[in-house]
Parts: sequence; C-alpha cells; structure tokens
Amino acid sequence: KLEEDANGVDSASSRISFQNESKWDDHSSYGAKKTQQAWCRLSNGNWALGKVLSTSGSESVLSTSEGKVLKVSTESLLPANPEILNGVDDLMQLSYLHEPSVLYNLQYRYDQDIIYTKAGPVLVAINPFKKVRLYGNDFIEGYKRQKMDKPHVYAIADAAIREMKRDEVNQSIIISGESGAGKTETAKIAMQYLASLGGGSGIEYEILQTNPILEAFGNAKTARNNNSSRFGKLIEIHFGATGRISGAAIQTCKIKQFSSSVLNLLYCTSFGGNILISVLFPPHLNCMMGLCLNEQFYWRNQELYNVQMVNDRTIFFISFVLVHPEKLNLRKAEFYKYLNQSSCRSIAGVDDSEMFFAVMEAMNVVHISKEDQDTVFAMLAAVLWLGNISFKVIDNENHITVVSDEGAQTVAKLLGCTFDSLNMALSTRKMTVRNEKIVQKLTLEQAMDTRDALAKSIYASLFEWIVEQINMSLGAGKRRTGRSISILDIYGFESFTRNSFEQFCINYANERLQQHFNRHLFKLEQEEYIEDGIDWAKVDFEDNQDCLNLFEKKPLGLLSLLDEESTFPNATDLTFATKLKQHLDSNPCFKGERGKAFTVSHYAGEVMYNTTGFLEKNRDLLHVDLIQLLASCTCNLPQIFAAKMLVQSDDYPSGPARLSGADSQKLSVATKFKGQLFQLMQRLESTTPHFIRCIKPNSLQQPGIYGQELVLSQLKCCGVLEVVRISRSGYPTRMTHQKFARRYGFLLLESVASQDPLSVSVAILQQFNILPDMYQIGYTKLFFRTGQIGLLEDTRNRTL
Ligand code: ADP
Ligand code: MG
Repeated sequence: KLEEDANGVDSASSRISFQNESKWDDHSSYGAKKTQQAWCRLSNGNWALGKVLSTSGSESVLSTSEGKVLKVSTESLLPANPEILNGVDDLMQLSYLHEPSVLYNLQYRYDQDIIYTKAGPVLVAINPFKKVRLYGNDFIEGYKRQKMDKPHVYAIADAAIREMKRDEVNQSIIISGESGAGKTETAKIAMQYLASLGGGSGIEYEILQTNPILEAFGNAKTARNNNSSRFGKLIEIHFGATGRISGAAIQTCKIKQFSSSVLNLLYCTSFGGNILISVLFPPHLNCMMGLCLNEQFYWRNQELYNVQMVNDRTIFFISFVLVHPEKLNLRKAEFYKYLNQSSCRSIAGVDDSEMFFAVMEAMNVVHISKEDQDTVFAMLAAVLWLGNISFKVIDNENHITVVSDEGAQTVAKLLGCTFDSLNMALSTRKMTVRNEKIVQKLTLEQAMDTRDALAKSIYASLFEWIVEQINMSLGAGKRRTGRSISILDIYGFESFTRNSFEQFCINYANERLQQHFNRHLFKLEQEEYIEDGIDWAKVDFEDNQDCLNLFEKKPLGLLSLLDEESTFPNATDLTFATKLKQHLDSNPCFKGERGKAFTVSHYAGEVMYNTTGFLEKNRDLLHVDLIQLLASCTCNLPQIFAAKMLVQSDDYPSGPARLSGADSQKLSVATKFKGQLFQLMQRLESTTPHFIRCIKPNSLQQPGIYGQELVLSQLKCCGVLEVVRISRSGYPTRMTHQKFARRYGFLLLESVASQDPLSVSVAILQQFNILPDMYQIGYTKLFFRTGQIGLLEDTRNRTL
C-alpha cells in the first residue's frame, strides 16, 4: 500500500522546509540506490528513515522503519549515515551532515540518557528533565584522571582548568539556551567540578552555597521553567598559584525594576514560609506563581509560637533565623495583594521548608549576620505589606491620602519611618517648576504606581545588596593572584507572540553574546588561517554586526532613539514607534509595523516588538521623594539602598537627580543594562571561551520526549549546525612551531640536522606519520584537523 503523505510528490514544499541548504554538505549528486537507507521528510515536518525499495527516475519508493511504504521524489531524499556512525560522540564525525542526521544522532543518544554531545568545539546538552546517572564523585574522578573522555560538562570544566594552567590565560564557560533548557543546572554542575578539583581551602563550599541564595531571591516559577532565573549571572572563580580556589566574584545582570502601571504578577520562588518576590515581569510570561508565604510552613510557625511545639528543625529555625518573628506580622499568602493575584502556591516536588533551611544555612555560610538576615526578612515583609497599602480619595480631583491601617503602619514599622513620612512620600511629589519648588498632590493612579515602584526598588536593592554581601564573603575585594575561570549563565533569546521591553533587552544581550560566539569561532579562526598563510577557502558565516548596529548606533539606533524619546515628557509609545519608523526604515534589520509595533531581524529570527510601555519601563522613575524616604529610615538597609541609588545617579552627571536638585532619578534602564552588558563582555573578551549550548527537547518539562522541530529551531538559533560544518572543514588544533617542537621534540628517535623549530616540527610530523591532508604548515603555526595530535599527546604522556 502506498501512502502519499510523504514529502516527495510535491518536491517544492520539501525543499522549502529544508532551510539553509548551502550550509550543508552537497548531497545533490546523491542518487538513492536500491536497498540504501535514506531520510525523507513526512508531511508533519518530521524526518523518517527508510530503505529505498525502488527508484524510477524522479520517484522512489521507500519503506520506513515503522513499516510504512512511501512514494517520494528521489531528489528530496537525503543519504543516511552508515549504522556504525549511530550516536557518535561528535557531530563532526558524521559522514553525511544534514538536518536529519544531526537530529537523529542527538536523539539516538538522548534515548539512552546520553544527554551530552560535542558539536566540534561546542558541547550540546539536552535537558533530560529527570535524574540521569552522569554525575557525582566517580564521574568527577574519571574526568580528573582523564579515564573518561565522553562529552560532558565535566570534560569542559576540566579542559578549562587545564588550559588555564597550560596557557596561563583566564577561561570562561559560556552557557546559553532558552528558558528551561538547563543552563543554571549546567552551571552548577560545572561549578561542582571546579570546586572538587580546586578544593581544599574551604572557600569552594561557600561558592557552591551561593546558588541556593541567589535562586531563592532571583528565580521564579514560570510556565517554561519551575525554577527560572530572572537574572543573568557571571561567576568568576579565582585560582591561586597552587591551583586551589582562592575566592570568587559574582556579577549579576538584570533588567531591573521593571516598572509598570499595575504590578503585574509578582514572580516568586517557592521558598519556605517566606517571601520571595522577584523582579516583575509581564503576565504574558504566564507566571502562575505568586507565592511566597508557604501556608503549611507558616502555620507550623504559628503553632510554634503559640503552642510552643518544637522539633529539631523548628528549634533551629527559631534560634537562628528570626530574632523577632512577631515584628514581621506575617499572614497567609492569600492575604497579600502582591501574592493573591495568582492561585499557585506550591511547586510539585519542592519542599519549601527544606529549601528555606537550605537558604538560611547558606546565608550563614556566606557570613550574612543574624541581624542582617533579620533585616532581609523585614524588607521582604515590608514589600508584601506595601502591596496592601490602600488610599482614600480626598477631593474631587482624585487626590488621595494613605489609609492608616495595619498595612501602612506595619510598613512604617518595618522600614523604620513614621506613618506621616510614608504618607507624604506616597501621596505627594516635590517638583521644581520655573525655579520654584512646589508640592504636587498625586492622583490615585499615580499613588499606586509610586507605591509599587517603591516595593520594586526595595526588592531590587535587596537583591543587589545580597550579591554584594556574598562577594565580600567570597573575597571579591581581595588582591587577585593566579587565574580565573568564569561561568556565564544568561537568559537566552526570547520570542513570544507579544514581545515587550523585556524581550527587547534580553534579545539585544543575546545578539551581543552571539557576536562573541561568532567572533571566537569563526572570525578569529578565519583570520588566523589567513594571517598565517593557510590555504583555506573562506567560509561565509552569519555576521550579526548589522543587527548590533541597529541597536547601538548613535544617534540613530534603537537604544539612542529610545533614550531620547524617554526624555520628552509628552512622548508616547506611539510617537516612539513613529520615530523609529522615520529614522530606521532603511535599515535591513528593521521593519516598521502598523501602529505601535516594529520588527527586528535577529540572528535567531524575526521578532515583532510592541512599544506599549517601552518609555515608562525605560524611564523607570524613582522619585527623589522615595529615595528621601528610604534615606530617612532608622532601619539600616533602607538607608544603604538610598545611598546606593544616589551614588548610581552620580555616575550619570548629565541626567539624574541629586537629592537637592532635580525631581527624579532619570537613569534609563536600557542604558544601564547596556553598561552592565558591556562590562560583562569586556570581562569575557580576555578569556578563552568554552561554549555549552543547552537544548530543551520539549515544552512540557517532561522526560523522554524529543520534539524534532523544537530541537532543530534551537540548534539553528544558537549556530550549532553552522559551527559543526565549519569546524569539520577547518583545522581546529594549532600550535606555534616553537611550542610544537618544544612539546614533542624529545620524542624524536633520530636527531635532526637543523635544530630550528620548523625543521624539528616537520621531523615530528614525519615520524608520527601524520598525513598531509591532516595538517597545514603556516608561517608561525601548525594547523591540525580535529583529533590529529591525540596520538602525539598520548605518546608524550606515556613517556613523561
Ligand atoms: P534554565 O536555567 O536554562 O532556564 P534550568 O537549569 O533551571 O533551566 O533547568 C530547568 C529544569 O530542568 C531544572 O529545574 C531541572 O528540573 C531540569 N534539568 C536541567 N538540567 C538537568 C540535568 N542535567 N539533569 C536533570 N535535570 C535537569
Ligand atoms: Mg536559569
């Protein structure tokens, strides 16, 4: 029986779906032969492997492994790799390199819980969404002793350590991927390996303990990931002269303090009995979590205080955690407006109280004092209670005053200010109009925005403060000797049906990271070949400089225009969109859309942004009245936050306010974000990078499901396919003549007439019988195809 649902008959459609053909090996001369295995594309877009039963001219008949018989166009068939290549460790080893062979190879491994595969120099990691037996001491030992050589995060971390020592150059491990792809887990696995190899000083335990703290305060449950990081993180691990870890420094990068007219949904982590609200993201991210006070735990505590029922854990809790629990005046989660917007109060498989203790313990480990921990909780409680502050309208112009209820009183108590000053800060605004100072009364909407802005800025400041405490404890300020390995875990490219300011910033950051990736893997590579006189047909790669220019160009780039428009009081999201169209329409990466939208052609695809809220989010006004309020508090943290905000505005002499002068802190969020990003890139620039690309095999967060299309789109997004092709055709291993001669010269069995490095090198190549196709000799360096110097290294290690 013939089924005509295959690609074949209509060959046009199958060719369209096979994008970027030019990137692949040319299989056009491939004529399917009888009994051969070949790939054909099914109508649902998936690829199927089959045996060619017959070919007659342009049509072939194929029987798939599932027993179907398909009639397809011969032209559209792609050759299958021989079985012996099933599941190879490195995609570069595939004889036939094309979409289905790459997808199949990854899936073949994934089905056996082999989640790591090399793609040339890049490690691909596919999220297993279950425990896999690939980690722990035995594995660490295996990689440390180089007894294991299968692709693994451990192998990457090991290479980083070895190259750091060998080349005396700092290293970085750059982990990217979509939300939920496994970046943060991968980063932790790499940290564990480094900690295990560089351990001994005790500081490694401290470094590992920063994870639960940062996750508690900076992660949230989203539709894509139950434990989604809402910040990017670079952790720089320092090694002393002896190879031991001597300290670390953490740099976070977040689009902070998103302001919006209404607090959308608060991102919260599950975090035992307490409170955790993360930066605020818009509802289209579908955060269904609004929790923090874990009910169960809360009630346990109530019992504890009232009935004095204690067990081991609770003794620990009382004596170590809260010195004055009654001060926080905590209620059930539903009671708090910021939390009851969502009905999600727990995460399957997560024990909040356990997490809570883990976080408390971790705070002790990184030397956050009991008093400070208390204040941290006071700040969290203040944020929650702020959300419950209500206003009453006092005149017919919709002006308001704060209702003096339990909410407002508790906030004042927790921050250490009077009700009156809180009321003043939330209901009025000092302004300078024509050199005259006036006090403007706020309307209900303005007051609610102000209240929410205060809550968010306290939360964001608290997060920053915690990172600072951690850095002090890890010795970030100490003099650094030796070398470092940095691990970067940063949010990936995002494209939703509706994309706003947050996606705009995130995708811009990814555009920069992609450039870094491109540069290292392609540009530098090619330039090096050319400089050294190597015969290497230039390979085109996708350069995203045009797109970066679209963002960064001054004065007519997206960021500049956004900042400019943000300074006009009468500008609206629509005038902003119009302005973009006016100035950028000729840019090939930009497309103006109807109304308030525009489209950017990112390296990973086109994204349409809606400018609604852009200006407000970018301005992120925190009025001086609020900074003054925080500065006047008797509690030390609000004071520190206020001082920090003023210092930050000093960094930008052209715009932002001082307490004395202007009316608000006018630091643009996009500009600040760009600054953080540049700092981050600068650090990375001077390191040897190691790339790990995390892949999410399905959107259900379920084990065992491998969605071909989803995987493929991610492979394309992060340039994995491209890199395999280029690496395979290039010479990824290289060494100067001197170094090569020094490193392997002693293995020579016969002495060489001339002792210059090049002659010695050539003699070595001959002795080891390295084939001419496998290397090239440049002016200063020797270039090898992958895997070629393995034999030399083995012999050297055996001899040493
Ligand atoms: P990302 O940081 O990319 O958003 P995470 O690292 O938080 O994603 O991973 C999301 C979830 O996927 C984790 O909470 C965990 O359940 C699962 N996961 C990721 N990597 C692994 C792994 N190596 N082994 C087991 N589960 C994993
Ligand atoms: Mg993460």
